[in-house]
Amino acid sequence: MTSFDVLVIGGGIAGLSAAAALSTHARVVVLEAEAAPGYHSSGRSATFYHLGIGNRTVRALTTFSRPFFEQTSDQGAPLSTPKAALWIARSDMIDGLNALYDGMRMFSDQVHHVGVPEMLDLLPVLRTGPDAIIAGVVDETGRKLDADALQQGFARTLRRNGGQIETGVRVDSITREHGAWLLQSGDKAWRAGVVVNAAGAWADEVARLAGVKPLGLSPLRRTIIAFDPPDNIETRDWPFVKTTVDEFYMLPEGGACSPRRSMKFPAIPSMRNLRTTTLRSLPTASKNTLR
Ligand SMILES: Cc1cc2nc3c(=O)[nH]c(=O)nc-3n(C[C@H](O)[C@H](O)[C@H](O)COP(=O)(O)OP(=O)(O)OC[C@H]3O[C@@H](n4cnc5c(N)ncnc54)[C@H](O)[C@@H]3O)c2cc1C
Repeated sequence: MTSFDVLVIGGGIAGLSAAAALSTHARVVVLEAEAAPGYHSSGRSATFYHLGIGNRTVRALTTFSRPFFEQTSDQGAPLSTPKAALWIARSDMIDGLNALYDGMRMFSDQVHHVGVPEMLDLLPVLRTGPDAIIAGVVDETGRKLDADALQQGFARTLRRNGGQIETGVRVDSITREHGAWLLQSGDKAWRAGVVVNAAGAWADEVARLAGVKPLGLSPLRRTIIAFDPPDNIETRDWPFVKTTVDEFYMLPEGGACSPRRSMKFPAIPSMRNLRTTTLRSLPTASKNTLR
């Protein structure tokens, strides 16, 4: 058995960033169940920074994190690049759009209402009109984050400070022993004074192992549809686009010059309505581009 100051359960962005920060003054090991860090949400995220998510506390944290994301990595790569975020609303979403505007405006003066002509300038394929999109809000402070640069940067910092990442280790037992935490995975064991639960959607399972009251989290499956737009459509400058409710959002990747340009549509419970109510002329996703 090996002893550390801090054991971090989960090698996603939460676990890696916490471990990197703690490693400047503590001996830290990250225990990750999968064969590589970032396998779950952190490796599949759209990784877009915007003020549209969460309550006031979350928006405050998002705002305070901005200077960090505006930096370059230790290897000189930008951690993020600017891209506007556009919230779109049908008539039944106007109250939600106004509430979203008020919430975001508390943290940025670069958030403003836009009418149909401005929205079409930003996103020419938008379906507008009485039965479709009629109003929008733009957040000029949006940024596309580089998930790989972030995760690799945290992993390098951790290792440089003497920390470790152990993969293929699913923690299956957490007990208290002689004033310290004892974590086990099969016949392997680790001991530390502090345990960080960064198990993402499985954080309640880990909490239960430690006898801590769960919060009510459960892992859910999400779907991203990625496809190439037609050659005559330039998507590079399109914004991140989201309805004011969790119905639909999309993010263009790459640009006309990139052979890998694609569109991503994560988590669309009302996909069947998409073409008729929101976008005019997007191509049908072909089988080989569905992931
Ligand atoms: C499709 C999609 C799009 C998204 N888009 C955005 C976006 O645009 N902007 C945004 O801010 N957020 C977005 N998110 C959310 C964001 O990705 C997550 O909030 C974030 O990645 C969560 O990181 P995490 O480290 O908490 O969890 P995870 O990345 O899930 O990491 C948790 C890790 O814990 C490990 N683990 C679990 N149980 C154990 C155990 N018992 N022992 C050891 N290891 C264990 C898991 O294997 C996993 O690797 C998106 C998410 C998805 C899925």
